[in-house]
Amino acid sequence: MNNFDAKLQAIHDKITTAKQNVGRNDTVQLCAVSKTQTADAIRNCYLAGQTIFGENYLQEAISKQALLTDCEIEWHFIGPIQSNKTQLIAQHFDWVHSVDRLKIAKRLSDARAGKPAPMNICIQVNVSDEASKSGVAIEDLDALAKEIATLPNITLRGLMAIPAPTDDPQIQSAQFRAVREAQANLINQGYDLDTLSIGMSADYAAAIAEGATIVRIGTAIFGARKPAAST
Ligand SMILES: *Cc1c(COP(=O)(O)O)cnc(C)c1O
Repeated sequence: MNNFDAKLQAIHDKITTAKQNVGRNDTVQLCAVSKTQTADAIRNCYLAGQTIFGENYLQEAISKQALLTDCEIEWHFIGPIQSNKTQLIAQHFDWVHSVDRLKIAKRLSDARAGKPAPMNICIQVNVSDEASKSGVAIEDLDALAKEIATLPNITLRGLMAIPAPTDDPQIQSAQFRAVREAQANLINQGYDLDTLSIGMSADYAAAIAEGATIVRIGTAIFGARKPAAST
């Protein structure tokens, strides 16, 4: 008995309920966030049917990927990106959710040249106005999207955000709504976007109510993270 079966089922049930509550019948994908978890844990989760995994730390991710080459996993990079890591990220991942500046997008595009498929990216937006948070400010989003859309080896799929944690459900929903509105604004300008990457273990039902198409869930699948993590 694989103990991921029940956990994944519970999450899929909650996703279904959250969609039904707002009358959605489109798809919400589950990205299992496996940072600090072992390759064995990822394999067991994969054997329980999970195929999309998100990682934050490049070296850790590459080490685990090497042990999982027989698994058909779609790897998503969701952590902060240093520009000297873009080459390896472009080689080892199909998606990057955390692009918040042009330099990184350009380097990912260059590194992806000659690969069979373009890199799928989301622009990370900052809807909490905290100086410490990553993500482009909403007022700078249009200019960044315009530049990124011209890059040859990248497909701009949508937006990602990590809103400030809050116990107030209204503030939580307002932050998710701000991301959705920014996305709608880009779509109105003609961008072909299908991805809204919002929602984590504590708030994915609220994110789905506001239009999430990918939820990124770690602790609700794997339990608490191991303390040590390397970049
Ligand atoms: C760690 C992480 C998650 C998952 O968080 P949980 O609260 O464990 O579900 C999602 N997104 C990003 C960007 C993360 O770094």
